[in-house]
Amino acid sequence: MANVQVAIRVRPLNARESADGGRLAVQVEDKLVRIKNAKLDGRTDGAVDSREKLLEFCFDYCYWSVDPAEPHYASQEEVFQDLGVSVLSGASEGYNVCLFAYGQTGSGKTYTMMGTPDSIGLTPRICQGLFRSEDTFPDGQNSSRVEISFLEIYNERVRDLLRGGEQKKRASLRVREHPEKGPYVQDLSQHVVSDCQQAMDLLKEGIANRITAATHNHDASSRSHAIFTIQYTQAILENNLPSETVSKINLVDLAGSERADPHYCRDRLTEGSNINKSLVTLGIVISALAQNSQMSSSCQSINSMASEGDGSTVGSHSSSLSGGGGGGGGGRRHCFIPYRDSVLTWLLKDSLGGNSKTIMIATVSPSANSYNETLSTLRYAAHARNIVNKPRINEDAHVRLIRELREEIDRLKSMLLSFEMQRNPSPSLSDERDGNLSDIVLQNELKVEQLTKDWSESWRDKKELLEQYSMDINRDRAGFLINSLRPHLVTLDGDVLSTGVVFYHLREGVTHIGPQEQFEEPQIVLQGSASCEIQNHGGVVTLRPLPGCVCLLNDREVTEPCRLAQGTVITLGGVHKFRFNHPAEAAVLRERRRASEGGLTCTYNDLCPMTPDHSVKEVNLQGQLGACLSPSEEPSARQCVEEQQCYVESLRQEIQAEQRRAERELEREQAHLRQQHSEIQQWILQEKRRLTTVEQRITQESGLQADLISRTPPGARGKSGVRLSGRSDSRSSVPRRKGQEEGGAGGATKASRPLPFR
Ligand code: ADP
Ligand code: MG
Repeated sequence: MANVQVAIRVRPLNARESADGGRLAVQVEDKLVRIKNAKLDGRTDGAVDSREKLLEFCFDYCYWSVDPAEPHYASQEEVFQDLGVSVLSGASEGYNVCLFAYGQTGSGKTYTMMGTPDSIGLTPRICQGLFRSEDTFPDGQNSSRVEISFLEIYNERVRDLLRGGEQKKRASLRVREHPEKGPYVQDLSQHVVSDCQQAMDLLKEGIANRITAATHNHDASSRSHAIFTIQYTQAILENNLPSETVSKINLVDLAGSERADPHYCRDRLTEGSNINKSLVTLGIVISALAQNSQMSSSCQSINSMASEGDGSTVGSHSSSLSGGGGGGGGGRRHCFIPYRDSVLTWLLKDSLGGNSKTIMIATVSPSANSYNETLSTLRYAAHARNIVNKPRINEDAHVRLIRELREEIDRLKSMLLSFEMQRNPSPSLSDERDGNLSDIVLQNELKVEQLTKDWSESWRDKKELLEQYSMDINRDRAGFLINSLRPHLVTLDGDVLSTGVVFYHLREGVTHIGPQEQFEEPQIVLQGSASCEIQNHGGVVTLRPLPGCVCLLNDREVTEPCRLAQGTVITLGGVHKFRFNHPAEAAVLRERRRASEGGLTCTYNDLCPMTPDHSVKEVNLQGQLGACLSPSEEPSARQCVEEQQCYVESLRQEIQAEQRRAERELEREQAHLRQQHSEIQQWILQEKRRLTTVEQRITQESGLQADLISRTPPGARGKSGVRLSGRSDSRSSVPRRKGQEEGGAGGATKASRPLPFR
C-alpha cells in the first residue's frame, strides 16, 4: 500500500501577469503551500465573509520556481533529483510507476515534464537515468530491454504519436482491457530502443506530432493529454540467482484546464469541453478513490483518520465530487469509480488506485490573478494525496519459482545443520534422516540449476529475437499476435501430436533448409532428407529445390528456382510444410484490394504465381504484384491462364490413365471369375458322375439282396437293415471344405477337390 505522492511547483510570472502588477498569491515554505485571497485584503468594513483569507495545504514536495535569483529556487535538476529519481528507483525495483502533471493551461506542466532544449524536463532526464543505471552492473550480469510508446488523447480519441505515415498518424486507436494487465491501447506501436539517443529521438518525434493551439493563457498550449510509456524489463543474474521484472513507467502531460472563452472558434470550444470532460472525470475518480481510501482506513482505525487530513482544508470538499452520498463513515459502501467515463481515466486506471507507484505534480501560477485556478488545483492535488495504491513487484513467474526453491533449499540446509549440531543418540536414525534431507536438498539444487539455465537461455533468445528481427508480440485477450516486417516461414505441422508454432525469418542472403549433415550450418534444421535453399535478395525471395528432395509449391512440383509469393505453401520431401509470408507484399496487395473496391478479387493462385526464376529475375517486386491484379499487365495474366490450362491438362491425363488402369483391373477380375465358373462346372459334373456310380452300385446290391431274401427263410429277414443304411450314408456324397475328413465308407468316395471360394 502506498499513497499517491503529490508535489506542487510554482512557475515564474509570465509577461501578462508581470504587466498586471505581478501581485503574488502563493507562498511556499518547506512542505506547505499557502494561498492568499487578495480580494479580501482591502476589506475594512468588518463584513462577515465565508471565504478564508489564507488557506494552507501540505504536500510531499513543494517547489518554488518563480525566480532563479531566490535562494530556495527549485530548478529542473532539483525536481528530477526528487521525483525523477523516485520514478527510476521504483522502476528498477520492478514496480509500475506513473508521474503525471496536472494544472491550469500555461501553469508549467509541459515545461516540467518535457522542458525546453536549454532546460530539459523530467521525461528526458528519466530516459537518461534509465540508460545510466545499466552501467552500474558489471558486464554480463545485467541485461535489460526498453520499449517505448507515445500516445495522445485528443477529443477523447487515442492517436499514436510514433507511427509513421500521415494516414496512420491520424487514425484513432481502440482502448481495450486485458483481464490481468488492465486497459491498453490496441495496435499502439512499441519501439525497442538500445540507447538514450534513440529514446530522445522518439520523444522529439512524438512531441512534434502533438496537437497544440494558441489559447487565452498560452500561445502554444498542448490541446491533448500525452502519455509517454517506457516498458522496462530487467534481467539480472547475480551469484547465479536470476531476477526478471517488468515495470511500466507512465509519464503523463495532461492538457490544461481552463474556462471556455466565447471568443474561441467552435473547434477550440469542442476541444476544451473534451479536455474538461476528462479532467472532470479525473477529478471525480480522484475524489472517489480518496474517499474510499479514507473509509478503509477509518475501518482499520478511527484514530488514524484524524491524521489523514494533514491540516489541509480539503476534508470538506471530498464528498461533494464523489457522489457517494451522505451517511456515517462506518456503514457506507465504497463508491463506484467511474474510470470508463473518459479515455484518460480508463488508461490511467492502474496508476490511480491500482498496481502502481504514482506521483502527481501539480503546477500553479503564483499570480493573484489566477487565485481561483490555483486554489482549485491545490484542492485537486490534496484529494489525490489521499489515494492509496497497491503497487507490487512485477516479477517473472519462473524467476519467482527459482527464488522460492532457493529459499526452500536454504531452509533445509539450516535444518541439516541444526540436526548435525544436536546429534541424536541413535546414530542410525539420525543418519537416515540426514540422508533424506540431503537428497531433497540435492534434488532441489538440481532443479534450481536447470531452471536458472532455462531462464537464462530463454531470456537471451527473446532479447536477440526482438532486437534482430524487429518483431512485435502483442497479447490480446485469448490470443497472441506476432507481427513481423520480414519475409518468413510459418510451419504447418501435420503431426497431430505436435504443439506450438514455429516461425522462421528469412534473412537477407541464403537460408539453408535441411538436415544437419547436408549443410555445414543449416539455418532451418529438418529431420530426414528434405532440403532446399531460399534466397532473400532485397525482398525478392526465391526458392531453389535441391536434388534428391521433392519440392512442391502449392502442391505442384518444382524443379527449377522459383520466386515465392505471399501465401505460398511449400512442401519438402512430402512431410515438411511451411507457409511463406511476405508482409510488405501482403500490405501492397491489401491496399490494392481495397482500392479495387471488390471489383477484382485475388484468388489464391493469383497470389502465388509459380514463376521460374530465370523469367523473373529482372522483374521487380511491384511488377510482380501487379501481375496478379492489374488487367493492364497481360503477359503475366496470360502466363497464369496457361499455367492453369497446363494443370487442367495434366489432370485430364491423370484421369485417363486411371480409367485405363481400372479397365485392365476389370478384365483381370472377369477372367478370374470365368475360370472359377468353369472349375465349379467341372466339379458339379464330377460329383454327378460319382453319384450315378453310387446309385448304380446301390441298385445292384439291392437286387442281390432281394434275391437272397427270396431264397432265405422268413425268420432270418431284416438283420441286414443297419448295414444297408450305413453303406448309403448321405454324408459321403456332400462336398466338404478343404481340410475336412471324408467320413463315409469307401475311400473312393472321398471329395478330391475343395469347393472354390472367393
Ligand atoms: P502548460 O503545459 O501547463 O500549458 P507550459 O509548460 O507550456 O504550460 O508553460 C507555459 C510557459 O511558461 C512556457 O513558456 C514555459 O517555458 C514557461 N514556464 C513554465 N514553467 C516554468 C518554469 N518552472 N520555469 C521557467 N519557465 C516556465
Ligand atoms: Mg502543456
